[in-house]
Amino acid sequence: MDTAAGRRRTVEEHRAVVAALLAGCSPGTEEVPVAEAAGRVLAEDVLAAVPLPVFTNSAMDGYAARWADVGGASAGAPVRLPVAADLPAGRTEVPPLEPGTVHRIMTGAPLPDGADVVVPVESTDGGTATVAISGAPAAGTFLRHAGEDLAAGATALPAGTVLGPAQLGLAASVGRAAVVVRRRPRVLVLSTGSELVAPGEPLAHGQIHESNSLVLAAAVTAAGGAARTLHFVPDDVDQFLTTVRAELASADVLVTSGGVSMGAYEVVKDALGALGTVEFVGVAMQPGGPQGAGTVDGVPVVTLPGNPVSSFVSFEVFVRPALRAALGVPGPDRVELTARLAGPLTSPAGRRQYLRGRFSSGTVELVGGAGSHLVAHLARADCLVVVPEDVTELPAGGEVQVVLIGGALQ
Ligand code: AMP
Ligand code: MG
Repeated sequence: MDTAAGRRRTVEEHRAVVAALLAGCSPGTEEVPVAEAAGRVLAEDVLAAVPLPVFTNSAMDGYAARWADVGGASAGAPVRLPVAADLPAGRTEVPPLEPGTVHRIMTGAPLPDGADVVVPVESTDGGTATVAISGAPAAGTFLRHAGEDLAAGATALPAGTVLGPAQLGLAASVGRAAVVVRRRPRVLVLSTGSELVAPGEPLAHGQIHESNSLVLAAAVTAAGGAARTLHFVPDDVDQFLTTVRAELASADVLVTSGGVSMGAYEVVKDALGALGTVEFVGVAMQPGGPQGAGTVDGVPVVTLPGNPVSSFVSFEVFVRPALRAALGVPGPDRVELTARLAGPLTSPAGRRQYLRGRFSSGTVELVGGAGSHLVAHLARADCLVVVPEDVTELPAGGEVQVVLIGGALQ
């Protein structure tokens, strides 16, 4: 079915086509407050303006001391010393520690000059004027040394980092209030099909609720893009083209669903095929065989099949990696691992099959069959089970590759 060669494209070939198409779709950078940067992709190296820890401080609530004074303390022979100062976290004027004294110190407070150990409060009587120390810590312990986590000037976060909770915390820790991130590619999502009715509306016989645009918009967001969903259109070439062209100017990518198969009312194929700038091909995979990619008025377009599972899998296999690569996110993306099959499976020759499964403790259980209409089963899956093109059956206990796609919370 490939136009020139009369054969199907491989998954890798179509993936490369989509990746090349979307390579330039990332529209530059912008500065955003760290508080609003969750999920964004860093476009700069964030350098540590301060070391981490910023200063040497106490890892425990206790007493800053000189090892020479407290190293000999034991339950049988406690050491009693005067408490010369109190150091809560946040105290910025820290008196040095004179020999033969201790400072009461809280976790995170700066270690006074002269101290080389912290005695945890649990090894003392907790005194505030004098303290009896009944157990000596190992020399040099309960200290957090300046720069032991990150040296000043070091790269805290390299460009390309996806900013999750821990990364945002690090940016804040090194003092950043704002970061430069990649702008999100603006992805237009448009579903087609005369049978589609908005969720919440009643269904006449023959109609179904439109769901692909919600799936694709959420998948765009998860991949790092900014989705904008157009109201779905019926299988009408003029209406499809009018809707698309009215919005293209404000888009970096267009993703459509439906209308690319071999039927009689294939609106996307009919409308875009006539332009000559979009190629419609068969890809050697199941689900998701019919695919298209190209440009409309210079804007990259990826046309996905309408069956809900096909649409979901096609986005996962082709669009997600292309979007992430365009955003400069280094791979690998999804976790892929080898699992044992809980039961046997069969698969068509010559096509890579992406079955749905649930993975647990090294074993994968298939969820539903190969049917690309099984949306309820898809929603219960947490992985795709990848069966290679040349494999037609596998026994229970056989090894397969699975791609973890996350559950509802990811
Ligand atoms: P198509 O690719 O347009 O031939 O559609 C294939 C199948 O997917 C048909 O059963 C459609 O009703 C269904 N379908 C297409 N688009 C959607 C959509 N946006 N939401 C839910 N189901 C759809
Ligand atoms: Mg359709």
